[in-house]
Amino acid sequence: MKNKALFVDRDGTINKDCPYCKDPSQIQIYEDVVRLMKEYQEKGYLIIIVTNQSGINRGYFTLEQFHNFQDELIRTLMDMGVVVNDTFFCPHRPDENCNCRKPNTGLIEEAAKKYDIDISQSVIIGDRDDMEGEIGRKLGMKYIIVKH
Ligand SMILES: [Mg+2]
Repeated sequence: MKNKALFVDRDGTINKDCPYCKDPSQIQIYEDVVRLMKEYQEKGYLIIIVTNQSGINRGYFTLEQFHNFQDELIRTLMDMGVVVNDTFFCPHRPDENCNCRKPNTGLIEEAAKKYDIDISQSVIIGDRDDMEGEIGRKLGMKYIIVKH
């Protein structure tokens, strides 16, 4: 049987959005989404973060800074009882016309391939209908939009 996943946007969904978040001291977690992640995890869903990080290719922060922020976020979530299985991120600027920048579906497809995920049985959660909502509609996947 294929796996199911909860795909979770990062900025504005798990943590309070800040313009091009890069400093781990800026991390402020939304507990309602953590509770949802826990519920899905307990039901056997993989927990996968999917995030646009154009700040990398815009030169606002380095790949290393991105990973430091991400590691701290994952540690914080672990302390709250959520195990993040993986993170897929897009480093590109919009003008690079990649296939992975949301609302394109590349990150989801990459994750689905790596983890043998049934997209039709999976869920995406985010704070933007024009991003995560759009992906849900394109792929026929359930989506949840949170307003914080
Ligand atoms: Mg967001």
